[in-house]
Amino acid sequence: MLTCSQCAVSQPESAYSPDQRKTSGRQSRCKRCGAAAKKAARTQGLVKTNKAANARRQAKYRNNNVEICRERNRAWAAENPEAMRAKARKWSQANRAKTRAWASRREKAYEQRIALKFSVAIGAVYERAEILSLVTPHVFHVDHVVPLRGKDVQGLHVPWNLQCLTATENLKKSNRMAA
Ligand SMILES: [Zn+2]
Repeated sequence: MLTCSQCAVSQPESAYSPDQRKTSGRQSRCKRCGAAAKKAARTQGLVKTNKAANARRQAKYRNNNVEICRERNRAWAAENPEAMRAKARKWSQANRAKTRAWASRREKAYEQRIALKFSVAIGAVYERAEILSLVTPHVFHVDHVVPLRGKDVQGLHVPWNLQCLTATENLKKSNRMAA
């Protein structure tokens, strides 16, 4: 047991910070008194808060207590949804380029998914024409309902603009279009 030089309370050694310069190996002031003195000095503007050192200490703590910090953050986020939204807004405003890049990547991925679905559906129409040609006496072609290079309107190479026609029907149609 050691007696604090400031509050005069007797406490076990663990209540004092180590100090090799002292014969006891501990500071004469207890940890609580030391912390209070530091806080008082800070609030009175006697000492400058060392922001860099604080940040280093916090980073070290976070590194050594990843799970605890994660759990704490999760709990805080669950209790402060509005603050989280505001934070997200602020972040995306400060990172316009990044959010824009993400949005365009999302858009591109969406377009790719659509294109893939189209190509599957289009492939199915061509397959149907092949099967019909095999199982019927006619030869079937895949025809664009609205021609791709029509005179007035240009059709699209999309599933709903495709149909299976017999070669004869197809020829008739193109003659009609040309006329
Ligand atoms: Zn004390």
